[in-house]
Amino acid sequence: MSILVYVENTDGKFKKSAFEVVSYAKAIAEQSGTEVIALSIGNVEESQLSVLGKYGASKVLNVNTEQLKSFVNQAYAAIIVDAAKSSSASIVVLSNSFSGKGLAPRVAAKLEAGLADGAIELPSINGENLQVKTGAFSGKAFAYVALTSAVKVIAVNPNSFEAKDSEGTATIETYSPSLDASDFSTIVKDIIRATDKISLPEAEIVVSAGRGLKGPENWGMIEELANVLGAATACSKPVSDAGWRPHSEHVGQTGIAVSPNLYIAIGISGAIQHLAGVSASKTIVVINKDPEAPFFKVADYGIVGDAFEVIPKLITALKAY
Ligand code: FAD
Repeated sequence: MSILVYVENTDGKFKKSAFEVVSYAKAIAEQSGTEVIALSIGNVEESQLSVLGKYGASKVLNVNTEQLKSFVNQAYAAIIVDAAKSSSASIVVLSNSFSGKGLAPRVAAKLEAGLADGAIELPSINGENLQVKTGAFSGKAFAYVALTSAVKVIAVNPNSFEAKDSEGTATIETYSPSLDASDFSTIVKDIIRATDKISLPEAEIVVSAGRGLKGPENWGMIEELANVLGAATACSKPVSDAGWRPHSEHVGQTGIAVSPNLYIAIGISGAIQHLAGVSASKTIVVINKDPEAPFFKVADYGIVGDAFEVIPKLITALKAY
């Protein structure tokens, strides 16, 4: 018996969530006495693959073929299923990322496994069964999902479980899954990056602004604040709808869901649809000139003030720090 973990990379570099899911699996393995096997798909160097040993993987299955360089949902799901079966995995763990959200249900269906997606804590183990706490209704509630099937699939929310490294080592095996043409009925022909800025879903700090900024010409100070903090920039939906910022920065129910360590919301009212995508952030700081703005109800820290006065002062103070 083993726990199989699918680890994601971008351009051959593991994402932070890769170390989080291996650490998550390791913590389950310590309670259930199983081993953790990581599965990497794509062109990741051996020196990187071996780092997974520090996070608790005893073995890394490495799939590296030209055909699989770009993400293909069906093919990647087929490989995860193949690897789960060949390593007799009783639990499959992956990140509840963009690609994980597409993979997890497909993998679960093929393995006839129960699925807990959006896990935010380690499961409690009750004999053969697991109970997993997940976020529900866009983060407004929690659900406890009981997994009673022989094989179980858990998709862990990024940034909800800390990656913990130690001294371990992992053996690396080249893995050659059996795939057929039907696994490639949809393929990604090319990926053109819109930006080389910090990836929003992966960012530890997000500086986000809304309609209170009045217009796109005022985003200079938002970008400067983000630069000083090493943060990604984000925005509310009306801002991207108006073309002030690209749609790739829109967070919320209909945009990207983020869960950074620090989310700074500037001139955003805090509508329920916006909160749906940001309420999993560890610390929320709200800057708004209206003391009645709903965002203050979920804020850890709040500044009631005019963004055009507060932000330049904040930038100066942070630069002097
Ligand atoms: P506003 O509501 O106009 O708020 C502007 C805020 O700026 C106010 O609180 C104001 O006090 C403050 N302000 C003004 N001037 C200043 C200043 N100088 N300094 C400081 N503060 C100032 N929205 C999303 O963001 N994401 C979503 O995914 C999303 N999905 C939606 C889905 C549906 C089906 C629907 C119906 C709506 C959705 N919305 C979404 C829209 C959402 O309901 C709100 O309309 C939107 O979030 C409001 O954006 P805002 O806070 O930027 O603007």
